[in-house]
Amino acid sequence: MSYDLAGKRVWVAGHRGLVGSSLVRRLAAEDCILLTPDRTQLDLQSSAAVEQWIAEHKPQAIFLAAAKVGGILANNLQRADFLYQNLRIELNVIHAAFAHGVEKLLFLGSSCIYPRDATQPIAEEALLTGPLEQTNEPYALAKIAGVKLCECYRQQYGCDFISAMPTNLYGPNDNFHPKHAHVPAALMSRFHDAKIKGLPEVAVWGTGTPRREFLFVDDLADACVFLMKNYSGPIATNVGTGEDVTIRSFAEMIRSTTGYEGELVFDASYPDGTLRKVLDVSRLTKLGWKAKTDLRDGLARTYDWYCNNYERLRAV
Ligand code: GDP
Repeated sequence: MSYDLAGKRVWVAGHRGLVGSSLVRRLAAEDCILLTPDRTQLDLQSSAAVEQWIAEHKPQAIFLAAAKVGGILANNLQRADFLYQNLRIELNVIHAAFAHGVEKLLFLGSSCIYPRDATQPIAEEALLTGPLEQTNEPYALAKIAGVKLCECYRQQYGCDFISAMPTNLYGPNDNFHPKHAHVPAALMSRFHDAKIKGLPEVAVWGTGTPRREFLFVDDLADACVFLMKNYSGPIATNVGTGEDVTIRSFAEMIRSTTGYEGELVFDASYPDGTLRKVLDVSRLTKLGWKAKTDLRDGLARTYDWYCNNYERLRAV
């Protein structure tokens, strides 16, 4: 009952992003034909363009990793854009996959779609059992719709569409914007700049007390390929390490990764967001998959990549 990717035409939607680029690296080890149209070849916001592209290129499997993403501030400020653009991408790709008989599709959800006050660690069953965190409610609503689209096309039409629910991610090709990025890349770029400029202190947003779980993106890509091959069902499977750290100790880890020697200053005028977010990964563990990369190793690999791409990123 496993799904074989060998010889298949596999589309990674969003192949330039954090998750998509990691999927492309991971899929190079599978004997499949990768399809990676860029923005000039395919506008994912256009239903007609997506329909036409799928009809022409006939992907057999799709990893739907394309999304408008951002950290707590971007999510909170660009609320309409996060809801509208993500809904459009999901509706266009998932419906066209159904209409053109795509064999299997994996949709990337997100752990922020669980209720703000969900019992920790968060099990898959917590979905839609309570109100969402306000700062990223529009993004979460769009991602919930994507998960439900996969579930409903499975129920009504028997489509083999599945979802994965990754925890907070970090790794190469992340968005390193100091204001709009998620906490790992935002802090990495801020500490790096402070080191270069010799600044005495670096601001860390919020109180430092919230707890988060962090997964190296190459582990997520490996889990997605594992699920694509080995899982078929309606439940959006959590993907994480099952372990969390405080933002304060995470910031300390990034400080030592970057070699910055100044002070950390917590700026409580920025929001903390959810106080704790860690996934229950027992379902995925039972299926036979576990995260491999230690947090400090993953941060060191990410920092290497960041330093090697620093000039290019600054020029964008
Ligand atoms: P979240 O997990 O959806 O809340 O997303 P983020 O990755 O944006 O934020 C995680 C936590 O890190 C929050 O408590 C933020 O307040 C905190 N944080 C500390 N410094 C930063 C920063 O420079 N950027 C971001 N995005 N978050 C930060």
